[in-house]
Amino acid sequence: MSPRAVILIGAPGAGKGTMAEAIRTATPYAHVSTGDMLREAVKTGAPIGREAAPFMQRGELVPDAVIMRLIAARLEGGAPDSRYLFDGFPRTLPQAASLDAVFAQRGARLDGVFLLETPTAVVLQRLTGRRVCRACGAVYHLTNIPPRTPGRCDQCGGELYQRDDDREATILNRLDVFQRQTADVIAYYERRGLLARFDASAPREATIAALLAQLRRYLETPA
Ligand code: AMP
Repeated sequence: MSPRAVILIGAPGAGKGTMAEAIRTATPYAHVSTGDMLREAVKTGAPIGREAAPFMQRGELVPDAVIMRLIAARLEGGAPDSRYLFDGFPRTLPQAASLDAVFAQRGARLDGVFLLETPTAVVLQRLTGRRVCRACGAVYHLTNIPPRTPGRCDQCGGELYQRDDDREATILNRLDVFQRQTADVIAYYERRGLLARFDASAPREATIAALLAQLRRYLETPA
């Protein structure tokens, strides 16, 4: 047995977090989010965290070499038959090429790259309607998950507000940055026939079912 992996790519508002959580609970895939790992490293004051923090604070990508050290360390600690779900990685062509090299060295295989596609109008509807409780952090949506009393949290009565990054202009900018950053990586995997597109504007359960069905096919394919 050798390690195998799938990459999950989704624009802001595609529901990537929900999908990753569903995959984590329903399959043996280990969720490897470079964003989460970096935030943890910053919190604990680990050397990688100290290197990454200034870039993260400026909203820039962390240098490829730092990211590859993080990934190498994660693979090092994994069992030989591990299945990884990469989330937020690779973000650049050099990272994609380094992943290929690391995998070739270890006899590991990339089964597929899942792209969650969502029309801009759906992303705007999802994100501009989001409201968060100032007191306890509970998340609502004006139309999809409305609070019982407008503007008030069901759980603690706290005030609901809109995060700055859920405003329309900010969302359009985040989408633009995402598209520019990921275009090369998506094209790279598409050329190699590894890209699988999923309609993430469908109800979440339908998208999750489609992702899980594909992962089960990979799980049934011998190494
Ligand atoms: P995320 O939670 O995936 O949005 O990541 C949060 C931040 O961590 C990003 O804004 C980057 O600064 C950094 N980061 C996470 N993953 C990567 C990556 N693969 N390459 C470069 N920087 C990354």
